[in-house]
Amino acid sequence: MIDKEKIRQAVTLLLEGIGEDVEREGLCETPDRIARMYEEIFAGLEQTPKEALSKTFVVEEAGMVLQKDIVFYSTCEHHLLPFYGKAHIAYIPDGKVVGLSKLARTVEVYARRLQLQEQLTAQIADALMEYLRPKGVMVMLEAEHMCMTMRGVKKPGAQTVTLTTRGAFSENHDLQEEFWRMIGR
Ligand code: ZN
Repeated sequence: MIDKEKIRQAVTLLLEGIGEDVEREGLCETPDRIARMYEEIFAGLEQTPKEALSKTFVVEEAGMVLQKDIVFYSTCEHHLLPFYGKAHIAYIPDGKVVGLSKLARTVEVYARRLQLQEQLTAQIADALMEYLRPKGVMVMLEAEHMCMTMRGVKKPGAQTVTLTTRGAFSENHDLQEEFWRMIGR
């Protein structure tokens, strides 16, 4: 459960810590603003994609289902800075499919937490395996990390790519190649 009062206190301390005047006009509402923002961007901590992925449709015979270019915004747990980019999700149905918006919803549930990109990728794949029970899943995320581009090595636009496979995609390299072809790589 998000404790907004704690966040307000912490942000005030943080501002003092960097040497700011917490009373000045531009900052006086910042702790409260951040508390409200955190409630939104970390809402996924109390959510699961179970409901979204439980509304399925029966299909007789279906090949690979791919949804590409799902835009996501998440927060790096090492620096509390954003990383954002696109998720590409493929699965091979085993008798049932979900509405395409539910894949985006699944990404959002896990993105709205403190994250590591590798972990976010794995959680999306595992959720699909658990709730949808397809024959296989492949998830690729490409993202820009503000902790890399606004500080440290400063490489604007540098993309971090993470990839994971489950089931049929792990065993069958032709399927992996089809994935790359379908997302245009
Ligand atoms: Zn970071």
